[in-house]
Order: sequence, then C-alpha cells, then structure tokens
Amino acid sequence: MNKLEGKVALVTGGTSGIGLATAKRFVAEGPYVFITGRRQTELDAAVKAIGENVTGVQSDASNLADLDGLFATIKQEQGHLDVVFANAGIGEIAPLGEITEEHFDKTFNINVKGLLFTVQKALPLLPEGASIILNASIVSIKGTPALSVYSATKAAVRSFARNWILDLKERKIRVNVVSPGVVPTPSYDRLGVEFVDSEASTIPLGRVGTPDDIAKAVVFLASDDSSFVNGIELFVDGGMAQI
Ligand code: NAD
Repeated sequence: MNKLEGKVALVTGGTSGIGLATAKRFVAEGPYVFITGRRQTELDAAVKAIGENVTGVQSDASNLADLDGLFATIKQEQGHLDVVFANAGIGEIAPLGEITEEHFDKTFNINVKGLLFTVQKALPLLPEGASIILNASIVSIKGTPALSVYSATKAAVRSFARNWILDLKERKIRVNVVSPGVVPTPSYDRLGVEFVDSEASTIPLGRVGTPDDIAKAVVFLASDDSSFVNGIELFVDGGMAQI
C-alpha cells in the first residue's frame, strides 16, 4: 500500500541530492509533490526526472517574498499541504579566523531563517495530523574542522523541532528532524573521491550514505508509520554520530 496516498507534500531544494531523491520516493508513495529550487533550468530537469504528480516552483528559501509565492501556488493548485520536508540548505567551509560576515549571513539566511519561514508560512495550509520534517545533519551534535557556522545552523534547526512540537501541540502536527551523515551529493564534488573514501572508513557500516538512504527515512517520518514519533532527531549516518 502506498504510504502517502492522497497527500500533498513539499520538498524545498528538490532539484538535486537528498531533496530530489526524497521527491522521487514521495511520488512513488502516492502523493502530489511540490519541489522548489532557485534556478528554472535545474527545476525543469528535476521535474522531468521525477516524471509525474509533481510541480516545480522557483523559490529561494531565504527570500520571504518567494516563499509567499510558493504557498500561494500550493494553495491555488491543491488547497492544502500534509507534508513539509524543509531540506534546502548549503554548507561552505570557513575555519575560525577566516569567517566573513557574508559567509555567516548566507549560511544562516538559507539554513535557519529560510527554514523557519518556510515552516511558518506553510502553517495556514497544514491540517491536523500534518508532518513536518527538518533536514539538519550529524554536525548538529559533532565538531568538524572549518564547519562551525554550518554546524551552528544545524544545531539551531534541531532546536526548532523541540520548541515547535509545543507551539503546534493543539494542532497535532508532528515535527521531526532527519540528520544525515556523509552522503555524497553534487555539493561534495569539490571535496574529491579521496575525501569520501577516508570518511567511509570511519563509519561503522563501512560506507557512506546515498540520498535514497535518507529519502527512505524521510518517508517514514512523513507517513503514518511514525504516527507517535515527535520531536526526535533521527540520525541516518551508518552509526557515525554514535561513536
Ligand atoms: P545538494 O546541493 O545536492 O542539494 C541542495 C538543494 O538545496 C538543491 O536542490 C539546491 O538547489 C537547494 N538550495 C540551496 N539553497 C537554496 C535556496 N536558497 N533556496 C532554495 N533551494 C536551495 O545538497 P544535499 O547534500 O542534497 O543537501 C540537502 C540538505 O541536506 C541540506 O540542508 C544539507 O545541509 C543537508 N545535509 C546533507 C548532507 C550530505 O552529506 N549531503 C549531510 C547532512 C545534511
């Protein structure tokens, strides 16, 4: 049986990596899916790759006017939204001593401000029992050289879920966090194969993750299979965050 039959779902940053894999898994489980991305060409390619029951909406997660346009489109086309996967995010390297104001503002604007207003502006469309999934990272609880600003954004995302389950208590809307480990996606291209191999050797399962490993966990959190799961951080990392 399809786990998300009859539902309407949103995946922000759905044009590549984890977002695209999740949008594909979602569509296979029956719902209508909206994906966002900043560039129309990538959006069109992703919509084509997903194939059916999907609409691409050009929308920069850090731009509040774009978010208004996104939710106006969803309201007009489907009237409501059952699942929000707030996935859009960026991670750039900057060691302490070399952190610029631009790096700080860009990372927080997309990963924290953008995610917050994505969820807040979605609220009027969400019925009782809706599911919100926030994409954080194992760096929410781990230290990594040159990644302090990114890691702080993901700790903020994890914190949002603890608080929002209380703000949304009356509406019985669940909020959970998925925290991927090392998952090579286009954002890893600049790091090279050696980096990925060396990371794999430190992971208890002996391999890095795939976008689909994460997508399967997101489907669980989106669906009724996780009906009593609320406010958690689900690490999907081959065990990396537990050692
Ligand atoms: P990716 O670069 O393949 O995909 C990122 C997606 O977000 C793309 O679709 C991109 O267009 C979109 N995006 C970026 N900025 C945006 C913005 N301002 N507005 C709208 N869309 C925007 O990367 P990914 O690895 O799939 O990352 C997806 C999420 O997963 C991010 O939040 C990232 O922090 C998180 N994450 C990834 C890993 C990993 O190892 N890949 C690990 C932990 C967490």
